[in-house]
Amino acid sequence: MYEAWGGWVITSEGIKENYSLAIEKDKIMDMGPREEMQKKYSFEDSIGAHSRIICPGFVDSHMHSYQIATQGLTADESLLEWLKKYIWKWEGELDKEKARACAEAAYLQMLHCGVTTLSDYTSVYHVEEAFKAAKQFGFRAVIGKTMMDRNSPAELQQDTDTCLKESESLLRKWHGKNGGLLSYAVTPRFAITATDPLLKGCKRLCEKYGVLFRTHTQENREEVAWEKKQYKTSVIRHLDKLGLLNERALLTHCVWTSRGDLDLIAKRKASISHCPGSNMLLASGTPDIPYMLKKGINVCLGTDVAAYYNFSMFEQARLSCLMQKEERKDPHAMDHLKAFAMATRNGAKALRLGNTGEIKVGNKADIILLSTSHLAFSPLNDVISQIVYSTFPFSVNSVICNGKILMRERNVLVADEKKIIYRAKEILGVKK
Ligand SMILES: [Zn+2]
Repeated sequence: MYEAWGGWVITSEGIKENYSLAIEKDKIMDMGPREEMQKKYSFEDSIGAHSRIICPGFVDSHMHSYQIATQGLTADESLLEWLKKYIWKWEGELDKEKARACAEAAYLQMLHCGVTTLSDYTSVYHVEEAFKAAKQFGFRAVIGKTMMDRNSPAELQQDTDTCLKESESLLRKWHGKNGGLLSYAVTPRFAITATDPLLKGCKRLCEKYGVLFRTHTQENREEVAWEKKQYKTSVIRHLDKLGLLNERALLTHCVWTSRGDLDLIAKRKASISHCPGSNMLLASGTPDIPYMLKKGINVCLGTDVAAYYNFSMFEQARLSCLMQKEERKDPHAMDHLKAFAMATRNGAKALRLGNTGEIKVGNKADIILLSTSHLAFSPLNDVISQIVYSTFPFSVNSVICNGKILMRERNVLVADEKKIIYRAKEILGVKK
């Protein structure tokens, strides 16, 4: 058993000062004022300082590790231009070695950004490289092969059976592995690239294994018009007709989802992954987050790298507030507490990861320690407000996932950082 302690601990019951957590194996076994905890236990190790904030680890509910190779090329392109010019081209070139280098480079960045749980939409091929990298890093990770059986580049499109068979075989091999840290998610890219037989097959897999269904929905107007023409109704209604809209569904974007469809999503208890940075960078639009929250929809946050440039969940939380305030010309349209919940516990709920996302006794020890020795926290007036609005990943000092220390005092303990950066420079990249 070891101790993690800080001047401020963000627990499920509010912020506690000079607090200590007792961590045994994968769990938070106990917590309390540091003086009492020191008397009660003889800890084998102690991590923390008076100047640290202990915060739940961030949950990035939507990202694409293999797309990290296109860093710097996203700017000033529309979604479809960007997909065609860079992403699909890169996906076509992806081999095992590059997929692994991408996953390692992405996960290394995520570690420095204080992420403990990630939801990686991999490419069509070499999905196992992401699982292997997540295992090596010790992350809580939800990973799934992207499926496309129509309207896709020839080198990435597979027939329906192959999509489903490969998904099932990956699911059987990886779901629940590494002590339960790894999960599989059934992942059609988006409805335009998935036939109904494929979507029905997805439903069968989700029901048979009780796993998450996740897909992109209603990201931009062009896509929505295409779907409307195809289905004569919205894609949300279509997914519902196929029985895919339920508490196991995580829909990413929902930028152009009507209020009627949001009501349906609320009724079916599906979650929405909101990626404000990506929505702004690709000029996709502003989703109606205040309405979603009012209706009780579980909304979480994602970076959507590489449709955004970095894995900072501080930034996504900040953007989620700024975007709504600006769009609605209302400073109350979003607040930092909601944004913080979206970046942590709502993400854990959306990914169906019980006992994570919050600091409380009995929960998994997925926590990060932030250093307040920076101007962003000087003075420190409001802990959560300053996490959302003032700071950057440089304040992430240590990262613990499932009780294991992955980064300590900014030293990465689970990977060879220099080697990963060298490999990323050497073998990744897309020619313009
Ligand atoms: Zn995406």
